[in-house]
Amino acid sequence: MDTFDYVIVGAGSAGSVLTNRLSEDPGTTVCVLEAGPRDWHPYIHLPAGFIKTFHMKSINWAYQQEPGPWTGGRSIYAPRGKTLGGSSSINGHIYNRGQRQDFDTWAQLGNRGWGYPDVLPYFKRLERRVGEGEDEYRGRDGNLTVTTMDWQDPLCEAFMAGAISLGIPKNPDYNGAIQEGVSYAQRTIQNGRRVSAATAFLHPARKRPNVHVHTHAHATNIIFEGKRAVGVRYVKGGKGGTPFEVRANKEVILAGGTYNSPQLLQLSGIGSPDLLASHGIEVRHALTGVGEGLQDHYAPRTVARVKNIKTINELRRGLSLWVEALKWATTRRGLLSLSPTMVYCFWHSGETTESSDLQLTFTPASYKEGVQGQLEDQPGMTVASWQQRPESRGYVRLRSADPFAPPIIQTNYLTAELDRRVIVAGMKLARRLLKSAPLAPYYAHEDFPGPGVQTDDEFLAAATQRGTTTFHPGCTCRMGPADAKWAVVDDQLRVHGLHGLRVIDASIMPRMISANLNASTMMIADKASDLIRGKSAPGS
Ligand SMILES: Cc1cc2nc3c(=O)[nH]c(=O)nc-3n(C[C@H](O)[C@H](O)[C@H](O)COP(=O)(O)OP(=O)(O)OC[C@H]3O[C@@H](n4cnc5c(N)ncnc54)[C@H](O)[C@@H]3O)c2cc1C
Repeated sequence: MDTFDYVIVGAGSAGSVLTNRLSEDPGTTVCVLEAGPRDWHPYIHLPAGFIKTFHMKSINWAYQQEPGPWTGGRSIYAPRGKTLGGSSSINGHIYNRGQRQDFDTWAQLGNRGWGYPDVLPYFKRLERRVGEGEDEYRGRDGNLTVTTMDWQDPLCEAFMAGAISLGIPKNPDYNGAIQEGVSYAQRTIQNGRRVSAATAFLHPARKRPNVHVHTHAHATNIIFEGKRAVGVRYVKGGKGGTPFEVRANKEVILAGGTYNSPQLLQLSGIGSPDLLASHGIEVRHALTGVGEGLQDHYAPRTVARVKNIKTINELRRGLSLWVEALKWATTRRGLLSLSPTMVYCFWHSGETTESSDLQLTFTPASYKEGVQGQLEDQPGMTVASWQQRPESRGYVRLRSADPFAPPIIQTNYLTAELDRRVIVAGMKLARRLLKSAPLAPYYAHEDFPGPGVQTDDEFLAAATQRGTTTFHPGCTCRMGPADAKWAVVDDQLRVHGLHGLRVIDASIMPRMISANLNASTMMIADKASDLIRGKSAPGS
């Protein structure tokens, strides 16, 4: 059996950063098991390839959620990256950290060292910010390049002018002191190509002789000696493939993401005894919080038809597409170099709300059924709106003891009353933004939810009919003190009650943050690498 110091399951956002940091010491050996293939596919690296990788099963787990009580009986599609870089290789490129209060809340829940002043140095160490931002908040020499949208589009400009006309200020840096305001999006795109966690962190580390990355290696079980994790069983080549084992001298680290890390714990006998018994799995360690507490952002998309100007819907077809392809090939600019979301707007749902609880995004394009993945034929523009800090919680549970079976994913969107109120406020603001005076020359009419929708109940009905995930699931292996029934890992990200086993990915977030999750997931991994190595925080 091969033996390494650390065995990491998953080469996604967290796994890539961890691999890089842990292997800095040439005397430390690191093995990474990744279920998916190498990230060779050209659509991964072309920003507009997002729309293709969205459904590409060779590099995407392509999960389906269970219908929830407030999703109109719909089972919502849940893409997840399955390749080097994980979801950062198929995501929407947006770089958004969240607010000070998000992390201060994590600390208040009993997690020492996770308040905003503790995590800020890691956000800074990771990034190479190109563009506006104060040095107090932004890093300039990390591996992860963060740029600002560089496509000046009249519709985007009019949208931002409209927001300003409604009293929402322009914010030069929503990753700085204050999040509220409107601006072009910050993205992980450099020279017209995606900057994934793999390109920024994993590939540079792979050049080191102490790093071993196995692709097509699906972890099926954690190997234990008593209460100590000592290795991982995996199958090479998918279901029915060849089984292998790999041993960890120091630690096994799960970085399989919010859906897969709790699934692997449950498959290994760690979880709720009732759930494990129902699948005939012997209980290795009872830990009822495993898989529980799932949170995500739920977004209805308000769509208006557009006149007097071309939108991306038309520019991505026929001859225009060929022109754009040529532009990208020769200059790395143009439509194919863009993230699917172009303008960001953070605002509050009510006058008494302390900090922005709404995130709204604008795109001069529209999607069939409001789901990103297929552009509409007629000209359209879209405002997606979501509640930043939802209260609704769901779960991830085994569907069967077969490690290749997808887990049950129940997000329970909108089950909390507050979430329903804030989502309605968001849709109303989206309508006001689209109807603002600066957009009037281009605004034809509202297509969804449509002018017939006026009361709060009607808005809510529309939200349940067409809302989708914004792809930000977290919180299924929550970090918290040992006496919290919901907690799975401690504030060093060690699994409670076991040895040699940590979970380090988006699943450890105790509570949803006001952001897309890629930046904070990489921050978690970077900070965890220092915890593992016993190093103090940068600058301290
Ligand atoms: C379509 C989409 C759009 C998104 N847009 C944005 C955005 O614009 N901005 C943003 O900030 N965030 C965005 N996100 C979310 C963000 O990318 C994720 O939150 C983040 O990448 C999660 O990191 P992770 O390390 O927890 O998991 P992942 O990056 O998903 O990594 C998990 C890795 O583990 C592997 N794995 C899982 N199980 C096993 C197993 N049993 N054996 C071996 N390997 C395994 C997976 O294949 C994967 O490579 C988006 C996500 C998606 C899917």
